Amino acid sequence: MDQNRLRIAIQKSGRLSTECQKLLKGCGVKLNLREQRLIAHAENMPIDLLLVRDDDIPGLVMDGVVDLGVVGENVLEETLMERQAQGQSADYSVLKRLDFGGCRLSLAVAQEFDYQGPESLEGKRIATSYPWLLKRYMDRQGVTFKSVMLNGSVEVAPRAGVADAICDLVSTGATLEANGLVETDVIFRSKAVLIQSASTLPTAKQQVIDRLLPRIQGLQQARE
Ligand code: ATP
Ligand code: ZN
Repeated sequence: MDQNRLRIAIQKSGRLSTECQKLLKGCGVKLNLREQRLIAHAENMPIDLLLVRDDDIPGLVMDGVVDLGVVGENVLEETLMERQAQGQSADYSVLKRLDFGGCRLSLAVAQEFDYQGPESLEGKRIATSYPWLLKRYMDRQGVTFKSVMLNGSVEVAPRAGVADAICDLVSTGATLEANGLVETDVIFRSKAVLIQSASTLPTAKQQVIDRLLPRIQGLQQARE
């Protein structure tokens, strides 16, 4: 990769990818996005895009592999806690909180569960893809639990007898309802954020960022 081009990691395909591409387009970045490619080069600016799983984005920024990244605060905060626990570097800065990717990480139980508060989950199994965010919340509540790590199909865990409750991302609540679950506690509210690596950038790259930021600001204001 060319060291002089600004590297931005965005989600390859998923809930953030369309909005990310729209954002870049709105900033005047002309992209040549061909499918199944890891890297896309902007045609009119010194910018290279890395198209990856959203879960990889915080680490790529924190390791300084890319200069910028767009990711949900949920994934960012989870990765941060995991890396801190493992003694890995976890520095970054938030350049801008964006106006898309809104969701919440919530606890939910089966409709027939007699839920009286987090203490009802004492000693229970909770399925989640966010064990660190969940543990932080439960520690604050003084409740001990067993976490069941699932990277998909979290919402079917109670019905499958794999867990007593779940901790999963919610936006409308339709998925929970379709699975006979009730949302009980919101433990984290999230939006997409634009983050930057902690390493000092060469002037040329910093200038590109300084050109992009006001454009992003302008785009967001226009949508308010
Ligand atoms: P990948 O293949 O990149 O790992 P994924 O399946 O983990 O994708 P998506 O479902 O595309 O991820 O969600 C990406 C991000 O979009 C989430 O981490 C979250 O920040 C945000 N998001 C917004 N609304 C929702 C929602 N209803 N459910 C899940 N994620 C949501
Ligand atoms: Zn993911």
